[in-house]
Amino acid sequence: MELIFCIYAFIFGLCFGSFLNVVVLRGFSGESIVLPPSKCPHCKHKLAWYDNIPVLSFLLLLGKCRYCKAKISFQYPVVELITGLLFLGLFYKFGLSLNFIFLAIASCLFVIMAVCDIREKVIFEIHAYLLAILGLVYNFFNIAGENAAKVHFSPFGHMITINQTFIYAVLGLIAGVIIMEGLARIPKFLTGKRAFGEGDSYIAGALGAFFGLPNLIVILILSVLLQSLIVLPMYFYKLFKAKDFKLLSALILLFVMVILFKIGDYAGVFESTGFYIFSVVLLVLIGLYCCRKIFSSIKTDTNLTYLPFGPALLLAAVVIMFV
Ligand SMILES: [Zn+2]
Repeated sequence: MELIFCIYAFIFGLCFGSFLNVVVLRGFSGESIVLPPSKCPHCKHKLAWYDNIPVLSFLLLLGKCRYCKAKISFQYPVVELITGLLFLGLFYKFGLSLNFIFLAIASCLFVIMAVCDIREKVIFEIHAYLLAILGLVYNFFNIAGENAAKVHFSPFGHMITINQTFIYAVLGLIAGVIIMEGLARIPKFLTGKRAFGEGDSYIAGALGAFFGLPNLIVILILSVLLQSLIVLPMYFYKLFKAKDFKLLSALILLFVMVILFKIGDYAGVFESTGFYIFSVVLLVLIGLYCCRKIFSSIKTDTNLTYLPFGPALLLAAVVIMFV
């Protein structure tokens, strides 16, 4: 019986994912979400219902439009599948509850923002505002049902009781914006450019409102870790393609040296203080060289794709939802 409901949740999520694709697509084209029936973006042919079955239609049509044979973007089945899996996971963890409904709506907003960010490097403020408002309501009523303390105020002689989760949510909203704006602006002194766009501050603020300040800190740290996993190999590949072997070899040298240093430290090689200081100075010098090269490459390369902070934040938020 339980399994049946899980399958329902999954299918429900797939259909929602299909709708989210429409929201993203029409968000960019400015069309109404509800009115015009869906059509092929290439030949504008109206799509039949059997061309619109989540994931399945894409597989049956081998990823091509039935009418003009133009390729259909992988975005469609991927978004549908991810939304389906999110709904399935949330239903499995929380059952059919108010908590599930709030988290499911939040994850729909995560998906929309991530897709907009990855596709066009745009965050629509409205999505972040919706998430922030949803989060404030969620925490005001403590829908997660945490064993949170109550905070009492008595202005004008009236006793007001507020869930602590709501205070954390307000603090998270403010901290998210301030922390991300700070992080984005620090490199501005060095390179004259923001490290990432304002959209990421909107996302962090909204996530702070939804998950509260303590969880926001975890999300921020986790997102940096996730980014380095994804971004570093991409950055190395980019250097390789641009034939910037000087910086590439310096970075690899730095990487190898850090590992050797750690191993040496662990094995107790640094018994002589002179050798230790020599190693540290060497490490710092190579590190500084890399930093200088990276900053100058950011200065000259106007087309440098900056760290995709938004999707990493949203991915970290999904992880937090499930742990
Ligand atoms: Zn077509």
